[in-house]
Amino acid sequence: MNYQRSSALFEAAQKVIPGGVNSPVRAFKAVGGTPIFVERAKGAYLYDVDGNRYVDFIASWGPLILGHAYEPVLKAVTEKAALGTSFGMPTAIETELASLAVSMVPGIDKIRFVNSGTEACMSAIRLARGFTKKDKIIKFKGCYHGHSDAFLIQAGSGAVTFGAPSSPGVTKGTAKDTLLADYNDLEGVQQLVQEHKNDIAAIIIEPVAGNMGCIPPEASFIQGLKRLCSHEGILLVFDEVMTGFRLAAGGAQEVLDISADIVCFGKVIGGGLPVGAFAARAEIMNYLAPDGPVYQAGTLSGNPLAMSAGLAMLQALSKDKAVFKRLAEKTAYLHKGIEGVLLKHGISHTINRLGSMISVHFCQDAVTDFMTAAAGDNETFKKYFHGMLAQGVYLPPSAYESYFLNDALSYEDLDFTIAALEKVAPDLL
Ligand SMILES: *Cc1c(COP(=O)(O)O)cnc(C)c1O
Repeated sequence: MNYQRSSALFEAAQKVIPGGVNSPVRAFKAVGGTPIFVERAKGAYLYDVDGNRYVDFIASWGPLILGHAYEPVLKAVTEKAALGTSFGMPTAIETELASLAVSMVPGIDKIRFVNSGTEACMSAIRLARGFTKKDKIIKFKGCYHGHSDAFLIQAGSGAVTFGAPSSPGVTKGTAKDTLLADYNDLEGVQQLVQEHKNDIAAIIIEPVAGNMGCIPPEASFIQGLKRLCSHEGILLVFDEVMTGFRLAAGGAQEVLDISADIVCFGKVIGGGLPVGAFAARAEIMNYLAPDGPVYQAGTLSGNPLAMSAGLAMLQALSKDKAVFKRLAEKTAYLHKGIEGVLLKHGISHTINRLGSMISVHFCQDAVTDFMTAAAGDNETFKKYFHGMLAQGVYLPPSAYESYFLNDALSYEDLDFTIAALEKVAPDLL
């Protein structure tokens, strides 16, 4: 494939944008080479500026669960845009999207919209601290909750990929209030809670981790967290920015049959426009300004274009009851196909999957937490990534990212992907 125009654009971008990108993982640092610049996308396909086509397994990192340029979303956004793009005043569509989200997700009465997953998690933690009147939080190594200071302490994907598990610029004062535990290690969490008795406001977790590959929680672990939180007066915060409206209409809460105290959203809820949200039962949400003392605000929050995209997306998902099952079946098919090829060629691997999230790790042992995810062979991953890219398959450019399948992917696309791996596999040894 020819990447001439992408290379030229990347060079120009680097002169005026740090690293040439507005979010680090896009720069291909973990896999080397030049990022491809997109011209357009439709359904399951991306088309770059050099005219190459790719079957897309990222879908803008999750939001486009029904594929690129999904007609109902396009229609909703363009119709809304004609009426004006932002008012900084209430609009009816905010209540429409809020009502629909509240009806789909278990255990929430009220929802507040923000502009990104980062904002959602940051605000959820402030709310949890305000509500419990406690300062410390527990997060898990390898879980990513956006780039706000409190979370940039052993955060997965981007942060790990760049060898900066905690970033300069995060103060020691902030770091001391974030306690770290290992994913799937309930005893470790119990110990932290004992050591910091009555100081912990919240435990925040990706209920199915997606920022160190895809790592589902063990049932005893996630149930144990729930019990521990209830017992100790700690709020359980589910960061469902990835899993919300993806694993099921009710997200991971529904799939795992566990209710959290606060739930964070992003990605799918915006249908491809910048939307985040956090939600909880009324007792907690009423602590937010203007009803309560915990301050949170946003000039563009509840933006009508963003709300109309989110509404069209959630309406489509709530009407099509079979969509999540269909996606899970496609993902299982891909899993089986990839596994077959890697086994045939004798390439050590572990594949993790839940619903429409899947990750391929080049290591022998089970991947259950950050340490086991980090054991994957990155040299093999690089060859795999670039090999597949050259075959017209766009996978996440980091071994720490989950793939996100979208419903526009056909079985022909999946067969194309598996056939591509057949060609690439001999080079992975
Ligand atoms: C993507 C992501 C975020 C951050 O969302 P942004 O919209 O990128 O700020 C937070 N938590 C999880 C689990 C995510 O996957």
